Amino acid sequence: MKRIILEVLLVLGLAGAGYFGWTQRAGVEALQPQVTELTEKVDESTKALEAAEEELAKVQEALKATQPATAELSAVKAGFENGDVLKDLEGLYAKQKNLSAERQLGLALVRMLTKGSEDPATVEALQKTLDQVDWKNKQKVICAAQNALAAAGKEVKVLAECYVPPPKPADDKKAKDEKAEEPGKDEKAGDKHAHAPHWEYEGALGPDNWGKEFPTCAKGQSQAPLNIKGPFAKALYKLAPDYKPGPLTILNNGHTIQVNVPAGSKLRVDSKPYDLVQFHFHRPSEEQLDGKPMDMVIHFVHKNEAGELVVLGVLVKAGNENPGIKALWAHAPAKEGPAVSPAGVVFNPMNLLPREMDYFTYEGSLTTPPCTEKVRFFILKSPVNMSPGQISDFPFKMNARPVQPLNKRIIETN
Ligand SMILES: [Zn+2]
Repeated sequence: MKRIILEVLLVLGLAGAGYFGWTQRAGVEALQPQVTELTEKVDESTKALEAAEEELAKVQEALKATQPATAELSAVKAGFENGDVLKDLEGLYAKQKNLSAERQLGLALVRMLTKGSEDPATVEALQKTLDQVDWKNKQKVICAAQNALAAAGKEVKVLAECYVPPPKPADDKKAKDEKAEEPGKDEKAGDKHAHAPHWEYEGALGPDNWGKEFPTCAKGQSQAPLNIKGPFAKALYKLAPDYKPGPLTILNNGHTIQVNVPAGSKLRVDSKPYDLVQFHFHRPSEEQLDGKPMDMVIHFVHKNEAGELVVLGVLVKAGNENPGIKALWAHAPAKEGPAVSPAGVVFNPMNLLPREMDYFTYEGSLTTPPCTEKVRFFILKSPVNMSPGQISDFPFKMNARPVQPLNKRIIETN
């Protein structure tokens, strides 16, 4: 238990007072800027020490303000003052050769709390942290904070990306609803999906009835997918995918097979970067070409800092075996459940793109509830192949929303 408290404290030190603001229902969004802000402060070296101390004072105040674990926390605070925490921590980490950046910073902050900012070893420890830390991976830190707090028995909201399902989910449906297919849903997983209505591709909960629970699905005027046919207008967007290899995380969310992509893969539209968040599959393709679907489609879902969504659609045609798909299908769960990250498996989404990037483009929506609009679609003209066996190994026989009315839109092509 003590160890968990220490871990919690470490990540608290990093996330600073913003973390407390967040747990006190200020919202997940509040956290990331705070982490960034604190990071930048630390980066300013000398000034940073003062600033960080201020943040820590706020954390201490916040610690005072929290009620349920007051006894434990005041024990920890006392531990700071007499140096026990630092000693324990140094003992704990002494055996580890390579401390993670989070732990390194945590250690440095604890040292600062104990010895003060004048202590040369504190400065050195902070410097060491800065040397090794990769702030692109802030998400890891946030996840560590959330999971450590959850492990310590706190009720915390967990970002979908961090969500580690309990060993025996008591409520399957809830777990399913927290596994959002599209990032629009992901954002708020954990706080609003506990009672999210269920939906299907057929029957009473099928697409014709999505609008009952998700009004945009019925009332939206720029819904996706579309039947792609002329006349087309001229598009000038330049697409430049820059996907990177990374550890594979794959799940069956009950509606599709989805691969969650670690930070670092981007699609540039003109010069604007969009982060690749996840990609998933539909069978047959949701988009139609002159009234005909292809065998499947892969949707690569991207999001920029402003939260704007871009979906790159890669059509799939039955043909030769696809080596990229082989690697995925080997690990894709046949049944709905939590994401799996098989040890040592690296995947590069680039493997699933065709060589040619010619496209059709239109403004559409998420093709699953809640059917949120303002999603820019690029559907590549060149399909990729999958063998008939690979197509039939996809565990969903039919998971495509029917095509939607074009209304006032004009499809463009480059
Ligand atoms: Zn999709």
